[in-house]
Amino acid sequence: MTDKTSYNLNNDKTYVWHPFTQMSSWLEEDQIIIDKGEGFFLIDTKRNRYIDGVSSLWCNVHGHCVREIDKAVRNQLEIIAHSTLLGLGQTRSIELARKLIKIAPSGLAKVFYSDSGATSVEIALKMAYQYWQNKGDRKKTKFIALENSYHGDTVGSVSLGGISLFHSIFKPLLFETLFAPSPHPYRFDGTPAQCRDRSLEHIETLLKKNAGKIAAIIVEPMVQGAAGIIVHPAGFLKAVRELATKYNVLLIADEVATGFARTGKMFACEHENVTPDILCLAKGLTAGYLPLAATLATQEIFNAFLGPVEEHKTFYHGHTYTGNALACAAAIASLELFERNKIIESLPPKIALIRKKLAEISKLKFIGNTRQCGLMAGIEIVKDKKTRASFDSAALIGAKVCRAMRPKNALLRPLGDVIVLMPAPAMDLPTLDILLDIVYDTLKTDLPGITKQAK
Ligand SMILES: *Cc1c(COP(=O)(O)O)cnc(C)c1O
Repeated sequence: MTDKTSYNLNNDKTYVWHPFTQMSSWLEEDQIIIDKGEGFFLIDTKRNRYIDGVSSLWCNVHGHCVREIDKAVRNQLEIIAHSTLLGLGQTRSIELARKLIKIAPSGLAKVFYSDSGATSVEIALKMAYQYWQNKGDRKKTKFIALENSYHGDTVGSVSLGGISLFHSIFKPLLFETLFAPSPHPYRFDGTPAQCRDRSLEHIETLLKKNAGKIAAIIVEPMVQGAAGIIVHPAGFLKAVRELATKYNVLLIADEVATGFARTGKMFACEHENVTPDILCLAKGLTAGYLPLAATLATQEIFNAFLGPVEEHKTFYHGHTYTGNALACAAAIASLELFERNKIIESLPPKIALIRKKLAEISKLKFIGNTRQCGLMAGIEIVKDKKTRASFDSAALIGAKVCRAMRPKNALLRPLGDVIVLMPAPAMDLPTLDILLDIVYDTLKTDLPGITKQAK
């Protein structure tokens, strides 16, 4: 161990408080400190190289230290790093907005910038709420969301979220949201179509019962990421769009995770030809380079905010770093790379490779089911394949399995007992193949044994 390694680890443990982390365990255990990135690899302070198996928490797109994006950010630094969008325009944010509207589902017309997925959702919900207020529909104040959905960690976005583990402690701070069961075909005895219809019926019941009181329905289109890569049955998204239209409520699509090619298309809404009224984008927007988010809205929504100042229809929301020029430059460079490297066109063989390996993995002893939508995949670990009983949650089996992949040079992060695979869309087939082999090799071993070793 070099001095540099222990110097960094000690200082991390002294000074840094990590997100979603039980810090007492963090302080006790050995930890990896990342120092560098190279393509689809992360390199730690001991010079170990790991495949970045979850795209640095679902945001990396073209790899790390990509020449073209590096150059775009450096060039922008020579021009200006940041100026405000409050009362001023900025060239890079204009250029990016135009590009986003060009590729977004048709009908979306305006881009409101912020800096994280949670803020993009916060903006979407305030926008939806105020839209109805501005139109004089004062009773439309509630939201419908899906159980086990995840929309970020600010108080507003947590209110829309349905993962009780993250949210129960904050309950007294949250506003009331109406929840419908998620179309979760792996926790339901019927067929996926029955599961879909059950969820849709529930949504429709909520819409009828609360007629005139719902501002919007929010969904993660096609895949509920943080819920454990729950892939929705075909037709669900389109039917939710139809329900929203029928009952005159807005549809908010949270594509923070699914956007920018994760599901095999640029945006998940494209799978079912759906245009939401409001679209939330973040994670992959800058290809994993810089914090930037965008909330896209239709012209109809935008128009409801127009009027003389004294009518107070203005959208009173903004963040200091809204539309940051460096981040916009990175996002523009990423979108150019999408075209130049034909990223979307390159996905089918990668998706097929993941499908093939998942089929092998699903035969293993401790695997409950596997699910996939494009490059997003989840592998559920169970204690008993027949009854699908899970391991005791205190056994932290998912975390231990991921830890066991580290000596094999892959970094993954689970969601509970679900091993998540989220390779960067630009990852080359050979690297993806190695990653999948590491996952297979780890899962084929005696998992309770792994649990003991890792203790
Ligand atoms: C990650 C995520 C968010 C929150 O994004 P942050 O940038 O972490 O605030 C919101 N919605 C979905 C669907 C996400 O996956």
